Amino acid sequence: MRKINTTDFNIATRTTARDINRRIALNLIREHQPISRADLARRMKLTRGVVSVLVQELLEQEVIYEGATGEAARGRKPTFLYVRTQNRLAVAVDIRFSKTYLMLCDLSGRQLGMEIYDTVFSFPAFVKDLAGRIKKMLHSRGAHADCEGVGVVVPGMVDHLTGRILNAPALGWRDVDIRQKLAAATGLPVHIENSGRACALAHLWLEKAETAGHSFVYVNVSDGVGTGIVINGELIRGHDHVAGEFGHMPMNLDGPRCMCGANGCWEAYISNLATLARYFGWTLSQFSPKQLKELEAKSFTILDLIARARAGDAKALGAVRTSGRFLGLGLAAVVNIINPDCVYLGGEITSAWDLIEDAVRAALAERTLTAAAARTPLRITTAQEYPRLRGAAALIAAPTFAAPRVA
Ligand SMILES: [Zn+2]
Repeated sequence: MRKINTTDFNIATRTTARDINRRIALNLIREHQPISRADLARRMKLTRGVVSVLVQELLEQEVIYEGATGEAARGRKPTFLYVRTQNRLAVAVDIRFSKTYLMLCDLSGRQLGMEIYDTVFSFPAFVKDLAGRIKKMLHSRGAHADCEGVGVVVPGMVDHLTGRILNAPALGWRDVDIRQKLAAATGLPVHIENSGRACALAHLWLEKAETAGHSFVYVNVSDGVGTGIVINGELIRGHDHVAGEFGHMPMNLDGPRCMCGANGCWEAYISNLATLARYFGWTLSQFSPKQLKELEAKSFTILDLIARARAGDAKALGAVRTSGRFLGLGLAAVVNIINPDCVYLGGEITSAWDLIEDAVRAALAERTLTAAAARTPLRITTAQEYPRLRGAAALIAAPTFAAPRVA
């Protein structure tokens, strides 16, 4: 039951019902493609005639197309419907502390081109350089006309209405406007979002409904910890765009220094650097941001540490499993607060899932308040899926499928 907000609403017009039905049809085609009109009508519990009109409108909008012909026992053979993603392109950008990832993809998130380069920390230089790379990438494929926009994800808080980065501690960027500058420099619409939220958005829009779930939390453990919360199919942003900053939840007031400047944040216990610091005996507060970047860029990464743990290095295994325990303790807080259908976990440490799963689950069970909450499914997404880039692509793709907002 949702209360109608009488200070902010859109009145339903004569065309609203048809708009909603068209979006429902589009989402059903997306999830069940290839699908015939007859099957779509069955799923929508509408007559063939009504569905044919909706389908015709979607065909005219060029968001779907008719593909191969199916088999029918008798009568006319059905034509299958597909969501059009080819020749509808997006540029996805994942700005990280260590590297920036640039991907050209179609609206289903399928990769067509990729570039990875060192992140430039000076903001004006970063934008100028990025715009140049985007233009070059599109130009080399003659794809500028088919590109519907640029989706950018950052490790930080973003006002998604104004497109300003409010605070990205890892990058040292505070209150900077990337959207307008990048849009002006590329001539393309630009959407920007926090990376954890964008990962959640990708799950919501690029996965099938039955696999994505309807209320879930996405937790990405990497340079930092990014989270995205989806409740009843809606990404939660919060009043001031900081909802879901679980990475900066205090675990211990006297704990290790976090990149946000505080001590003992969840992130300071489980980020890649935190796990490496545990192994090497570093104290992170001793390092300047520049030194941290150098440490991060060193050839020895979290994946090397996990390899050592697998090779029998007990200290490496201990460092990784301790991160697993802190991961589980933080997840217990996430579950106690949100109580989602499931939690998705991403980031490099998930490649050691077989080594840490019992530690994560034991910690989760230790601090959740009911047996059911302790059984919250934890699902692993692998780095090969580039979840953050898929999230950036979803920023461009999702508005096509979202429900029109009424009442
Ligand atoms: Zn912090």
